[in-house]
Amino acid sequence: MDLAAVGTDVERVIVTEVQLREKVAELAARVDADYKDRDLLLVGVLKGAIMAMADLTRAMQRHIEMDWMAVSSYGSGTKSSGVVRILKDLDRDITGRNILIVEDIVDSGLTLSWLRANLMSRGAASVEILAILRKPEAAKVEVDCKYVGFDIPKDFVVGYGLDFNEKYRNLSFIGVLAKHMYS
Ligand code: 5GP
Repeated sequence: MDLAAVGTDVERVIVTEVQLREKVAELAARVDADYKDRDLLLVGVLKGAIMAMADLTRAMQRHIEMDWMAVSSYGSGTKSSGVVRILKDLDRDITGRNILIVEDIVDSGLTLSWLRANLMSRGAASVEILAILRKPEAAKVEVDCKYVGFDIPKDFVVGYGLDFNEKYRNLSFIGVLAKHMYS
């Protein structure tokens, strides 16, 4: 869905479709090179990472495996609750596996630092993080993202998998949700 289709719901575009395509291709090439000759299991965080996972893996030139987790984060509001709960767990054992968590956005970093620790505690050989977006707050916590697409301002954004009350995930770009939509 394009900008014209959402009218004034989106205040401004911060990452265009073309920028997303180019960045995801660049990240895919880096992941390919870094994991050369090593097993790789990509763990997508539902539902926000669906677009990133689909584009990233198709741009990669190697075999991968994919699994998914769902964890609670914002509920239906726009502020992080700080409480992480597993809503859907992995389908398989990850002992000895190299894991790359694929996430839409790292904001406070609470979700990802918890998730990384959780996966390490299951005996993974390595756990790295790829996030399409990173907000400034993320710098305050101990979450080391090996791959980051774009550093963005604090605003609440939607599109390319990111929602507001389950809408806007299918925007082809990432934009700032207009304040009048939630205040
Ligand atoms: P954190 O635990 O890093 O604060 O939050 C991570 C999760 O919060 C993300 O996976 C995402 O679901 C949600 N989130 C954080 N910032 C935004 C935002 O600007 N827009 C949307 N739609 N979700 C966000």
